[in-house]
Amino acid sequence: MKLTILGSGTAVPHPQRSSSGYWLETANSSLLLDCSASAIHRMAQEKLHWANLDAIWISHFHLDHVGGLCPFLFGTKNAPETQNRKKSLRIFGAKGLKKLLESFDATNDYKLFAQPFPLEIIEIEPLEKFEILPETEAVALKTPHTDESLAIHLRDKNDRTLVYTSDTGFTEEIGTLAQNVDLLVMECSYFKNKPTERHLELAEAIHLTRYAKPKRVVLTHFYSEWDAVDFQKEVAELSPMCEVIEATDGLRLEIS
Ligand SMILES: [Zn+2]
Ligand SMILES: [Zn+2]
Repeated sequence: MKLTILGSGTAVPHPQRSSSGYWLETANSSLLLDCSASAIHRMAQEKLHWANLDAIWISHFHLDHVGGLCPFLFGTKNAPETQNRKKSLRIFGAKGLKKLLESFDATNDYKLFAQPFPLEIIEIEPLEKFEILPETEAVALKTPHTDESLAIHLRDKNDRTLVYTSDTGFTEEIGTLAQNVDLLVMECSYFKNKPTERHLELAEAIHLTRYAKPKRVVLTHFYSEWDAVDFQKEVAELSPMCEVIEATDGLRLEIS
């Protein structure tokens, strides 16, 4: 598997960090983890084959994670690149995803569901195994962020594993989900003294890292207070016991 970070920021505009989007490639397919408004253009900037995308995972309905989905479908409906596409695009997310898309679609009769190719919206129950890509198995976990928020665990046919927490408050269950994974992509919205229980700060993210014992961790979803922080120095002081990578837009990671 190979991961390309499209956006390492939040909903708040930032000069270097666009909002959530993570492009994951397996040997034969591709998956977009979250789809912010900026992510759809970031795919093109990174020269990724967006017109051939197999599946999209929507972790929750905050607009820095789903706000690009309808614009993307508006694009694929009309783009020359997708007019001859035959395979379906599958969009996975929590219960309510279909209603969200239908509501948006109805506001202006966009007919977003009438694509040149089949479109499938698949609502997932937590802890129910499903195939998100051919030969890639997934399971979702409810997280303390919004009612519908889900973290996801992925396993490809070569037994490579990845967990994407998306936005979450602190829960040990994240550490259980991410036990020994090859790559843990974890939000770390705040450095210290977080103003909300619905996100993580550094000490919590490292606590979960020490508990989960992944091969590597990428911390992401940074608010601008991180701009003033010496990331590697602060991480080292908390002894994470594995490599901890600071997400940046455009960073590519091989998961092997
Ligand atoms: Zn977010
Ligand atoms: Zn959120």
